Amino acid sequence: MNRIASFVILFFFCLTSAFAEIQWSGIVIHHSDSDFGTVKDIDRWHKERGWDGIGYHYVIYRDGSIHKGRDLGKIGAHAKGRNQTYIGICLIGKKSFTEAQRANLRHLGKELRLKYPILSIERHHEQCPGKGLGEEYFMQRGHK
Ligand SMILES: [Zn+2]
Repeated sequence: MNRIASFVILFFFCLTSAFAEIQWSGIVIHHSDSDFGTVKDIDRWHKERGWDGIGYHYVIYRDGSIHKGRDLGKIGAHAKGRNQTYIGICLIGKKSFTEAQRANLRHLGKELRLKYPILSIERHHEQCPGKGLGEEYFMQRGHK
């Protein structure tokens, strides 16, 4: 391949990857509605639904540990209508969450807000993640 051809290919590669970058502007918090579950389990559950693997970008286990799910280079599959610009975080649990989970959810939220212009942190819906997580964990659009 001559130099010009390889330069042109490189140029288009850079161009498409620049356009492919996702403009994250929000976060949706979910719960797993189960007492257990790892990234691997959720990946399997979501594949069983016919999805392209785990739909959340992060999963926070009961011990508070934060685990990466879907790559942030890909849009999520967790909140219809918001997937294009919202990062998905899932807490393992049903109605209540551990102190470690709450603390690390706050840390992760702070970290993501430093990296991306996050305008809003929202519930998925009224029952997800439910009342087990108070309003202080959420942020309305435009109120930083
Ligand atoms: Zn949800």
